[in-house]
Amino acid sequence: MNRRLEGKVALVTGGARGIGRATAERLAREGAKVAIADRDLAKAEEAAAQIGEGSFALSLDVSSAESAKAAVEAVLGRADRIDALVNNAGIVRDATLGKTTDEAWEAVIAVNLTGTFLMTRAVAPHMVARGSGAIVNASSVVGLYGNFGQSNYVASKAGVIGMTRVWARELGRKGVRVNCVAPGFIATEMTATMPAEVLAGMKQRTPLGRLGAPADVAAAYAFLISDEASFVNGQVLGVDGGLVLGT
Ligand code: NAP
Repeated sequence: MNRRLEGKVALVTGGARGIGRATAERLAREGAKVAIADRDLAKAEEAAAQIGEGSFALSLDVSSAESAKAAVEAVLGRADRIDALVNNAGIVRDATLGKTTDEAWEAVIAVNLTGTFLMTRAVAPHMVARGSGAIVNASSVVGLYGNFGQSNYVASKAGVIGMTRVWARELGRKGVRVNCVAPGFIATEMTATMPAEVLAGMKQRTPLGRLGAPADVAAAYAFLISDEASFVNGQVLGVDGGLVLGT
């Protein structure tokens, strides 16, 4: 594999499984030292042990400002620098409008939206001080186009696109690029809970005729982090097999 991330240090939130795990693996294979940060430390340690290449595990709850700060300090203590932040951690609590409880609203906003803000706020000063860095955020096609039964999730993912554009302007001037990906339906534990007929419908509506794999999204993150994307800033990169093409 191309070693275009050689010498870089990356922090991947929610890196113990799914897209985060595939991203940690991809970045490590391309030469990065990866901090795999997740709520579940045991699972993050297992991932780090399997991935190797100098990767290491951290306990992190992105929805807590203290935890976000502590994780950034732990990476700096261990690796001395952070070149890339992948704001991947995310959750769903789906329900139609009338059935969305306060708890479901707050939980999704706390992780997906506030978590992305807290992690970026904690990492940015360090990148700005060094005059370089890349931040990539997890949005979703639904953040662009909406989705039935996902008020909280869609609000969070649309918010991530908005924050990406703000930070691309604010931090771009300081040498830090900020972009996001908008995956379509990717086969992970998150989508495994969706009804089979919904997933079959998604496949049918996707021109490439399949769900995405975590590795498809990981490859997009790796590109956006790499110096090959050195003039790409504030963008939303669709990774959806053409699902929303023309809609
Ligand atoms: P996943 O399989 O559910 O994995 C999410 C990971 O994030 C889990 O390891 C989870 O830990 C961790 N996490 C959750 N809350 C956290 C918190 N507060 N602090 C730290 N880690 C936390 O999800 P995925 O499908 O890989 O999705 C990854 C990202 O891509 C999410 O932001 C998601 O919204 C986005 N996305 C996914 C799809 C898709 O189709 N799968 C499509 C578009 C966008 P626990 O095991 O403890 O919960």
